[in-house]
Amino acid sequence: MFNHKIATIGSHSALQILKGAKDEGFSTIVICIKNREKLYKLFDVADEIIIINDYKEFPKIQNKLKKEKAIIIPHASFIAYLGLKTIEKLKIPYYGNKKILHWESDRNKEKKWLAKSKLNLPKIFTKAEKIDRLVIVKLHGADGGKGYFLAKDKDDFIKKTKSQPKQNYFIQEYIIGVPIYIHYFYSPITNQVEIMGFDKRYETNVDSLGRINSYDQLDLPKKMIDPSYVVIGNFPMVVRESLLPKILEMGQNVVKASQKIAPPGLFGPFCLETILTSESKFYTFEISARIVAGTNPYINGSPYTWIKYNEPMSTGRRIARDIKQAIEQNKLEKILY
Ligand code: AMP
Ligand code: AMP
Repeated sequence: MFNHKIATIGSHSALQILKGAKDEGFSTIVICIKNREKLYKLFDVADEIIIINDYKEFPKIQNKLKKEKAIIIPHASFIAYLGLKTIEKLKIPYYGNKKILHWESDRNKEKKWLAKSKLNLPKIFTKAEKIDRLVIVKLHGADGGKGYFLAKDKDDFIKKTKSQPKQNYFIQEYIIGVPIYIHYFYSPITNQVEIMGFDKRYETNVDSLGRINSYDQLDLPKKMIDPSYVVIGNFPMVVRESLLPKILEMGQNVVKASQKIAPPGLFGPFCLETILTSESKFYTFEISARIVAGTNPYINGSPYTWIKYNEPMSTGRRIARDIKQAIEQNKLEKILY
């Protein structure tokens, strides 16, 4: 047992994070809103459950967490519910480099970072008149892919946006290929970038449109068959082994570039969201600089972590192991901010 405890907010990948922390010998704390506690009780992953009325109340329980020597593990819900400004001001130990959050949350900065990492990116159109190919139009601040639409050219874009209130669209080249979400882990303790696994998302309704043949689709109101990309769950995946060297290089380049733009750089889990074309070219359309929910199918480890660790090693457990090794080697200052 360690002096430090591992804490996270009850949602997204909390079950995985807490289970992984317990497997590494840590006591755990989950902070959740009312009624969510039942889930964490059922799975018995939290030694302590703190209930708050609203996630916005999180800063108020900081002192309590501090006294308990809690280390907070961020995930998408943590970022979504607390917001960047609040997170920056938190005074409890946080696993991750907070400076990276700015590079990830601002689309322009994110693009700069990915380009510096020598990754192929889908072309971005800042002016509608310049659209010369199939594009996916994303709404800024849209909650998980709602309201996205495709436009085949400039005229199509104008037609589709004409009746909509004026807003800030993010227009990106649509890449035809298969989506692959690559899960990585970089540890400043071992100085190694690891491939943790892959997933593909289950999105509604874009993943259900193929169940209605085009003949029937023509009879349906447009509103019913407009694609949306709201994530519901994730499927595990393995990729052709011949793709792995390239995938590893991509992860290593992202880490290297991050060390220049936001020293000491990115560490812990991260994910490249890519589309792979039939010419085996990866296009990266987004980066997540933290644990992604696509790692949840691998709570007992992925095929790749099984090869490397010979014991169940989820991303959640890998985080706890990083913290454990940092404690043992007196290097906590390298991973806590
Ligand atoms: P939730 O905890 O379900 O309320 O989600 C909080 C944030 O995490 C939202 O921004 C979601 O879009 C994101 N999120 C939750 N689950 C997933 C998932 N399986 N894949 C990708 N993002 C997710
Ligand atoms: P996002 O909200 O950016 O994660 O995108 C939601 C979904 O849209 C992804 O899971 C992909 O399936 C799809 N997508 C996003 N960007 C592109 C793109 N440039 N080309 C093709 N598909 C994309």
